[in-house]
Amino acid sequence: MGAAYWSAMDLDAYQRAALRTAAPRDKRNELLHLVLGLVGESGEIAEKFKKWVRDLDSDESRIDRADIAKELGDVLWYVAVLADYLDLSLDEIAAANLAKLASRQSRGLLGGSGDNR
Ligand SMILES: [Mg+2]
Repeated sequence: MGAAYWSAMDLDAYQRAALRTAAPRDKRNELLHLVLGLVGESGEIAEKFKKWVRDLDSDESRIDRADIAKELGDVLWYVAVLADYLDLSLDEIAAANLAKLASRQSRGLLGGSGDNR
């Protein structure tokens, strides 16, 4: 199923483009930098939504979508570069994830918990 979804989106091309602004793979502590970067950028999204809850009464009309889009882009960059570091294809990761979720859906297991259900 993944291949049909992917023909219009080339995530591997995005991954290659992201690598143009990545540090060399053999830079000291690069893997740790990428993992912490991914967590940090995810945290930036959480922080923005914390302030949205605290200061804006969770009013969805007041979400700064452009700002969130920038942070989602930062997360995407770290996902792409971390995957490359581990010799993983972003296309394949995305296709496998969609296949996993479709399988769960077809078996009525989208809710609930457990990584390998
Ligand atoms: Mg950021």
